[in-house]
Amino acid sequence: MDHLFEAEVAGCDDANLDSGIFTCKAGRVDTRPQEGVISRSTGSPEHLAAARFSPPVSAIGPLFRFRFERIYQCRLNYELDVSNRATTRVLGSYYKSRRLIRIYVRDRELGVRPLGELFDTFLHEMAHHLEYTEPFSFAARSCGRIPGRMHSRLFWRILGELRLRWARHQGQPRNYTDC
Ligand SMILES: [Zn+2]
Repeated sequence: MDHLFEAEVAGCDDANLDSGIFTCKAGRVDTRPQEGVISRSTGSPEHLAAARFSPPVSAIGPLFRFRFERIYQCRLNYELDVSNRATTRVLGSYYKSRRLIRIYVRDRELGVRPLGELFDTFLHEMAHHLEYTEPFSFAARSCGRIPGRMHSRLFWRILGELRLRWARHQGQPRNYTDC
């Protein structure tokens, strides 16, 4: 049992485990600004305008699929639904039986979520997808899933690998809020 990993879960809903639906909520502590994304904490008008920029919702799905193909080739395809429904805490879901990933674009109070946060949610749900469809791609024998736990060590290993690949693909991450 690794409590560091437990702390990072921050709200995923174990009640849905039996139905094969992972509902993944806000509160993760490891979301960092990525290239082209400006932190909402920056106050200048230029930065506020940039923080509000977002591609059309219809473009987000194809964009995320394209980005993902740069870092990993899935053995089994998945459905991706980018939902406009406003949520308070839920960022995304993974439906095992349909291999469906759903990303919620809109925060009920803050409006459209930053693209970097949405992509990180997408990677999180992709880690669920890969854990269930190809666990042996990630040395699952030494890192097996523990029944009843929403996020296994294997899950975090997969997500860590995906984030690493994306960071490498982008080159050295830059913090634009310091510019
Ligand atoms: Zn999750």
